[in-house]
Amino acid sequence: MTARAKHYEKMYEMFEASISKRVDCGKMCAPLNGGTPVCCTTDHAVPIVTTGEWRHLKTISEAWKKYKPNDKAGRKIVDDLHEDCRAIECKIAPYCDRVSRTLACRAFPFFPYFTKEEELVGLSYYWTFDDRCWVISNLQVVEQDFVKEMIETYEYLFKKDRDEKEAMVDQSKSMRKVFSKKGKVIPIIGRDGGYYKILPKTKGAIVPAKLSDFGPTGPFVSDEAYHKAIKEEGGDPTGHSLKDAEA
Ligand code: SF4
Ligand code: SF4
Repeated sequence: MTARAKHYEKMYEMFEASISKRVDCGKMCAPLNGGTPVCCTTDHAVPIVTTGEWRHLKTISEAWKKYKPNDKAGRKIVDDLHEDCRAIECKIAPYCDRVSRTLACRAFPFFPYFTKEEELVGLSYYWTFDDRCWVISNLQVVEQDFVKEMIETYEYLFKKDRDEKEAMVDQSKSMRKVFSKKGKVIPIIGRDGGYYKILPKTKGAIVPAKLSDFGPTGPFVSDEAYHKAIKEEGGDPTGHSLKDAEA
């Protein structure tokens, strides 16, 4: 069974909260990505939606078009797609109208984290974006409304589509494997909005954490690192500061 357009209509209504009402995180990562928020371009990940979501999206928005690959990697993404999925590309970034956001847009950089026993305990993040996504380095901005709405929406989705649940169970398993190998702590924002962690080599045991257990990473550790990364991406760091997020 897969989720249909009407189910996505409901899920979009259920999940409208932003990660933070106070901070526009796109302002913080865009200088590292030619001026467009990292999660709004196909340079780092091509958005994939199910046919059910695509049908709903087309009835409410003209912001999206089918993704047309222009290199080998892009063609492989399209060739490997499940018949029930579509690769798409946003036409309105960086000027988001919010109503056009896919489920993935609304959730990024987070995914529902499942324990080994397949219990959904909270949210963790797509770690390969930790060198560009400012939110990953600033989990303190994530608001409880967002956590609650995201979990409720995904629980609804999982009831409609078993494959979506399997994908997140696999994603969680993969995170445990990668982080354990690297000796890194897995951060989790729990259902209650609290912080939790999984220490390496503890067989997935979840224990309470402090925000300071996670800390910033990559270009977000200091203004110096931020400016260096902006320059490496061909941008001009003048006028950009990590303190901008505190405004
Ligand atoms: S979620 Fe991350 S990648 Fe997306 S706009 Fe915010 S900081 Fe940028
Ligand atoms: S719909 Fe909004 S959040 Fe999603 S890719 Fe487009 S501009 Fe970004």
